[in-house]
Amino acid sequence: MRIIIIGAGIGGASAGIALQRLGHEVEIYEQVTENKPVGAAISVWSNGVKALNHLGLGAQTAALGGRMDHMSYRDGLTGETMCRFPLDPITEQMGQRPYPVARADLQAMLMDAFGLDRIRFGRRLESISQEPGSVTVTFADGSRATGDLLIGADGAKSRTRAYVLGTERERRYAGYVNFNGLVDIDTQVGPADQWTTYVADGQRVSVMPIAGGRFYFFFDVLEPQGLAYRRADAREVLAQHFAGWAPGVQKLIANLDPMTTNRVEVFDIDPFHTWVKGRVALLGDAAHNTTPDIGQGGCSALEDTIMLERVLATTTLGVEDSLRRYQDSRTQRAGELVLTARRRADVTHAKDPEATRAWYEELRTEDGTNVIRGIVANMVGNPLG
Ligand code: FAD
Repeated sequence: MRIIIIGAGIGGASAGIALQRLGHEVEIYEQVTENKPVGAAISVWSNGVKALNHLGLGAQTAALGGRMDHMSYRDGLTGETMCRFPLDPITEQMGQRPYPVARADLQAMLMDAFGLDRIRFGRRLESISQEPGSVTVTFADGSRATGDLLIGADGAKSRTRAYVLGTERERRYAGYVNFNGLVDIDTQVGPADQWTTYVADGQRVSVMPIAGGRFYFFFDVLEPQGLAYRRADAREVLAQHFAGWAPGVQKLIANLDPMTTNRVEVFDIDPFHTWVKGRVALLGDAAHNTTPDIGQGGCSALEDTIMLERVLATTTLGVEDSLRRYQDSRTQRAGELVLTARRRADVTHAKDPEATRAWYEELRTEDGTNVIRGIVANMVGNPLG
């Protein structure tokens, strides 16, 4: 078959690799003119790593991944350790170590594996039409492409989604802003093999090790939507939000490079269960836009890819039947993850301050059992076991 994919993010590029491996002729159309991932890094949990392994990228992913042997929560104001525990039980229970990786590295790996020469950059999808047996897309530059099926992996503001649903879906502001970037590992902020998170007052500051002696850092800040912001001011803005916080947090603010620090307003979309219209299917954030609070958005996109590959391996009753099977196998699980992430976001960011205070108290007696149970629960039900 000739397959058109819109979007070369984690979802589109991974789907491209999988469908190409089935022997199809696949082309990806991407609106940007160069590969510039938004965001610094991403935690690829065991379910996502398994999907990458399945795509033949296991060794490369392991080489990009940071060594995250422990996890610790610290009191954001005093820096006192609230709890600290090993993360091996995740690897033991899931059969795969999770890897935090730089987005640019992950994106480059996926695009290379797919084939850069089959990604058409600078092509922005404008409209979609279906005829019996085919689908045609028109791009902003007036060019067109026709295929047997179309995968809309065009992200949180997906145009394909509006086509599939026949209406725009409103994105819901989650009430906080995530500042993120990469910085050299500094043991005054956290140990080199540990995911360290400082929490207080409904805000959090976190560092995760990635390859190359670097930390992926992020700050969750309670700010209204739409504030004016200049990248050059990142350090001053964060210093203001985290005045009086622990020395490790101040050190991180001093170490970061404002010009490579991203500011992302966090949104999600209520789960919906129509992902397919005829020969057109949604994948990744286009289908399930989530807050990042359980680190499962990209992993979910990779799970979509695995299921899409499975259903398209046999199309006895036709492509449309296979795509419906893809939809039916994915919407429930992906939707549950969106709602789990939303609940986690609310507790972390003090939507109900009493619930957040109770969580901080729990952390002071945590031996890892509950946190690991929660992380593993998010992965149970993934297509690769
Ligand atoms: P995208 O990465 O958004 O890619 C969509 C692509 O489509 C883009 O390249 C875009 O340019 C292109 N496009 C859009 N419209 C058009 C058009 N009209 N025509 C052509 N091309 C188009 N997930 C995790 O698993 N773990 C984490 O730790 C994690 N942390 C996160 C932290 C933050 C702050 C955020 C915001 C998200 C995080 N996520 C995480 C979620 C993860 O980033 C997303 O789920 C994932 O990137 C979605 O990939 P995608 O390919 O579906 O969409």
